[in-house]
Amino acid sequence: MTIVRLSPLLINQIAAGEVIERPASCVKELVENALDAGAARIDVTIEQGGRRVIEIRDDGSGINADEMTLALTAHATSKLSSIEDLDAIGTLGFRGEALASIASISHLTIQSRSVGAKEASKITAEAGQIQEVMPAAGPQGTLVTVRNLFFNTPARGAFLKTDQTEARRCAQAIRDAAATRPDVAFSLSVDGRQVLNLTGGVTPADRACEILGRETRDELLEVDERLGDVRVWGLIGRPGLARATTQHQHLYLNGRPIVDRAVTHAVREAYRGLIEPNRHPLLLLELQVNPAQVDVNVHPTKSQVRFRDSGAVHRAVRKALSHRLTEADLTPRLDLDRAAVRAGRFANKPSESGTHRPSVTRSGGMVESFDSDQVASQLDPANILAPISDEQGKQLAGASEVLPSGTRSVEVLQLHRTYLVVEDEGGMVVIDQHALHERVMFQQLMDRLNEGPLQSQRLLVPAVIEIKGDATERVTAMSDLFDRIGIEADVMGPETVAVHAFPTLLFERRVDPVEFMSELLDRSLQDDATQSSEAALHEVVDMMACKAAIKAGDVLTEQEMKSLVGSLEETDRSTRCPHGRPTLLRLSLEELEKQFGRSSAAHQ
Ligand code: ADP
Ligand code: MG
Repeated sequence: MTIVRLSPLLINQIAAGEVIERPASCVKELVENALDAGAARIDVTIEQGGRRVIEIRDDGSGINADEMTLALTAHATSKLSSIEDLDAIGTLGFRGEALASIASISHLTIQSRSVGAKEASKITAEAGQIQEVMPAAGPQGTLVTVRNLFFNTPARGAFLKTDQTEARRCAQAIRDAAATRPDVAFSLSVDGRQVLNLTGGVTPADRACEILGRETRDELLEVDERLGDVRVWGLIGRPGLARATTQHQHLYLNGRPIVDRAVTHAVREAYRGLIEPNRHPLLLLELQVNPAQVDVNVHPTKSQVRFRDSGAVHRAVRKALSHRLTEADLTPRLDLDRAAVRAGRFANKPSESGTHRPSVTRSGGMVESFDSDQVASQLDPANILAPISDEQGKQLAGASEVLPSGTRSVEVLQLHRTYLVVEDEGGMVVIDQHALHERVMFQQLMDRLNEGPLQSQRLLVPAVIEIKGDATERVTAMSDLFDRIGIEADVMGPETVAVHAFPTLLFERRVDPVEFMSELLDRSLQDDATQSSEAALHEVVDMMACKAAIKAGDVLTEQEMKSLVGSLEETDRSTRCPHGRPTLLRLSLEELEKQFGRSSAAHQ
């Protein structure tokens, strides 16, 4: 075989393979160029999913006539000249390959007039053949037109999806760029129809909100915290906004959209216990890190970055989000009108919790009974709920001060041996007794664990557990965890474990050691080997809390009910059980008034 030099066209086409995957990547590169040129307004037009036409007009600094040819040449850039610059790169582009790549796989025209130039100039390239620069008439700024993308690389074109899908991706690329540039106006028109119109000069929060969807506005919390060298700013969704995919998580680093596992993981940790494990919070996060601390040149599209200290970034994100979520009042609210829209969002499995006995216990004593269907329909999960607004949050916070401190006599009603109902200042609160107690136990256990290993009690006769798999391996792997939670266990046979001591707290709550240990050992077997020790501990404590907590169906004494309601005050994240299901719901007086038609004075 003979070795030959690749032609410049082929080199550019190969580079294009990495940078320009689809029309949206082309849009991304061209929009980034416009931003680098200081544009205040960027208008994009596409036809047929961007396959036929992509046109981008900006009002930025423009390109000098004598540099037009160079702009289309590979490895030609105005943004980088030495390797040191790369450590402090302030522009989105720097590799000087986007225009050359696009030119090699399309029919490209650039028309531009730079600041102070008398007239515009224009250059055309077809399949990498650069034509002469011609004078043209046009305003300051640049107009880039890409026609017939991939016309000479049909294999790549074949990977494209429908026009509609490609158009949606183009819109996403523009939103990604727009998210961190509220100063700039953006628009997109698809086949003659305007689909995006973002005004410039707005606040970062307003822009972020546009990106996440205006309807989410009331359910977003603003985060703004600096931890060490990392600044974390963003809007994060209340748990109720959680979605089935991570598609609604927008992450940016120094103005660049990124995909980063450490950051995603930190987000998950911060929301752990607030949303169900298979759901993902909606959010937009902007991280600012000293550019010298990141390598953005890991991937041609720069969507992946390498942090010098990814642990610090992880910590900063997790802490900033945790702080904000802890300080926010996340109590969901019973809202009968919005019920239809939100039906089933938190479907609380009434069958599981429900011994639907038609009896009502008032502070422990039986006082009356009434139609259970009626109660059931009022508490139907389909009638649930929106997280409360800040104002309502304040009301509830105010009310909860009144409640547990006992300045007012607290009447607690137990319904169906499953729910507790209490009055608060602005209405009424329905509590899931198991879910709330589980959350309370969870926190007590975590607090105690921070002080040292849990107290344990020796068993008179060791509990013997048969397991699937290698007992020695299991016990060794879990020995640290066992020490912390007060379990003493050793190997009795190849698949047999003996337990000699068991956490006192579980004893007191009458949890069966054999049952508990079998489940724990079983679960640990299924767990991801990469699970951090913190996550493993969290899971065990979760399990302990669940086992030790009051169950649906348990009749509670007046004392027990009051102390459970009182615990609301001292418990973080009391509005969600450790699995992320709600522990309480609130029905406001206004809502009751509305539903009973009491709002007018006529019904006094
Ligand atoms: P890079 O952005 O990595 O420098 P590109 O191939 O995307 O490489 O662009 C090459 C050069 O063309 C840029 O460095 C810039 O000087 C110029 N350029 C491209 N697009 C524009 C634009 N919209 N306005 C002004 N200059 C531009
Ligand atoms: Mg560029």
